[in-house]
Amino acid sequence: MAKLIIKTETSRCMGHAMCANAASDIFELDDNGYNMTEIREIETDDVDYVRRAVASCPEVIITLEEADS
Ligand code: SF4
Repeated sequence: MAKLIIKTETSRCMGHAMCANAASDIFELDDNGYNMTEIREIETDDVDYVRRAVASCPEVIITLEEADS
């Protein structure tokens, strides 16, 4: 199982909500559709799913790192 750290530069978020549409279990939005999840560490077997969600952001403000286990 991979341990991943997902970071969002929330100050640059434009509220498209594409991230949460791709992965509502990872990204939490405020009432106006802005991503509130600045940093999140998850364990997953489906890294491709996470990569797709990260890549869905048109502003390219979400990054993905592998965490040390
Ligand atoms: S897709 Fe990007 S810009 Fe849009 S809400 Fe998510 S983090 Fe913000």
